[in-house]
Amino acid sequence: MIKVRNLSKHFGALVVLKDISVDIKKGEIISVIGPSGTGKSTFLRCLNLLETPTGGSIFIDDIPLLDKHTNIPKLRQRMGMVFQSFNLYAHLSVLENLTIGPIKLLGKKKHEAELKARELLKLVGLVEKMESYPDELSGGQKQRVAIARCMAMEPEILLFDEPTSALDPTMVSEVLAVIRRLSREGMTMIIVSHEMEFVRNMSTRVFYMDEGLIYEEGPPQQIFDNPQKPKTKAFINRVRSLHIKITSRDYDLYAMQGEMEAFCEKHILSKRVTGYVLLMAEEVLGLQHNFSDIQLSLSYSEKEGTVELVCASAGTPVNPLKDNMEEDDIGLKLIQGRCKSVDYTYEDGKNILFLKIKVE
Ligand code: ADP
Ligand code: MG
Repeated sequence: MIKVRNLSKHFGALVVLKDISVDIKKGEIISVIGPSGTGKSTFLRCLNLLETPTGGSIFIDDIPLLDKHTNIPKLRQRMGMVFQSFNLYAHLSVLENLTIGPIKLLGKKKHEAELKARELLKLVGLVEKMESYPDELSGGQKQRVAIARCMAMEPEILLFDEPTSALDPTMVSEVLAVIRRLSREGMTMIIVSHEMEFVRNMSTRVFYMDEGLIYEEGPPQQIFDNPQKPKTKAFINRVRSLHIKITSRDYDLYAMQGEMEAFCEKHILSKRVTGYVLLMAEEVLGLQHNFSDIQLSLSYSEKEGTVELVCASAGTPVNPLKDNMEEDDIGLKLIQGRCKSVDYTYEDGKNILFLKIKVE
C-alpha cells in the first residue's frame, strides 16, 4: 500500500532522513521507535507531505506522491494524522469538530455527517460529550475526539505522532485502548510511540529509527527480545530498565520507591516481589558509604525470571561482599538470603553491585 524508496530529508545542512526504503502492506500496524531527534516525526510528515522530501519517492497504491501531476489533496485525504497536541478547533463543539471536514471537504450532507460523527463518538466512548467544547474536556478525551475527527474523513491510513506523550499518565490507557480498537478494524496504521508495552503488543512490525535510517526493523519479538544490531540493543536495554540517580545522602526515598513501584507494576510483578525489590534497593543503599554519585538501575528479565538491580557508585574500590564492616552485616545477609545471585566488580572508577532478585 505504501512504498518508500530512498527517501531523504535535509533541513539546510542538517540531514535528518538519509535513505529510507520500506514497504508497508494494507492492514499492517507499524510502530516507529527510536531516540528523540532521529527523524520519526519528519518521516511521518514526509509520508503525508506536511514536509516536502529532499529526495526519493513515495507511492500510495502505486500512485507517486511526489509527481507534480498527482492530485495531492485527494491522496492526502486517504491519510489521517493524529498529533501529540490534539489540534482541535476550540470554537467548535465536539460534534462540529467531527462534521466540518466531511461537510466542507467530502461534500457530505449535514445530517449524514452527523450520523457518522455520532457513530464515531460511540466508538471512542464520547457520545455524551457531543455538545461540549474542547476546553471542557480532559486531555485524554480531547485526543479521543481528535482520533474520531480523523476517522470522520474516512482515511485508509492513520498516522499517529506520539499520541499519548502530552497526556497525564492516568489518561494514556484510554487513548491507547481506542487505538487498539481501531487496529481491529483493519486500518493501516503507523504509530510513533514511546509506550513500549503497547508497541510490543499491538504492532505487526516495529521500525527502530536511528542515524536517519530505519536502522533495524522486524516483528516486535525480534526488536524487543532479540535485537540484532548494537544501537537497537542499547536502546531496548535503556527503555526496559529504570534508572535512578542519587547525588546525596538525603535522596528522596519516597520518590525513588514510587518510581520502582511503577516499574514493577508495568511489568506486572506481584506485590510481594515489588516489596522485595524496594527492600533490596534500600539495603543496597545501606551498604554505600559515598552518596555523591550513585546510579541505581532496575531491569526485568522475563526469560530468567529475575529483576536485576545494579548499583554503581563512584569512588575508591570497596567490596561490600568482602570488606564489609560489621554494621553492614545484617543488610548483606538479608540481601544474600533473598537474591539468586549477588556480585561485585570495580569498573571505570565505580563500585558495581549486581543483584538478581527471583520472581516467582
Ligand atoms: P523525532 O520525531 O524523532 O524526535 P524530528 O523528526 O522531530 O525527530 O526531528 C529530527 C531533527 O530534525 C531534529 O534535529 C529537529 O530539530 C530537526 N527538524 C525537524 N523539523 C525541522 C524544521 N522544520 N526545520 C529545521 N529542523 C527541523
Ligand atoms: Mg517527534
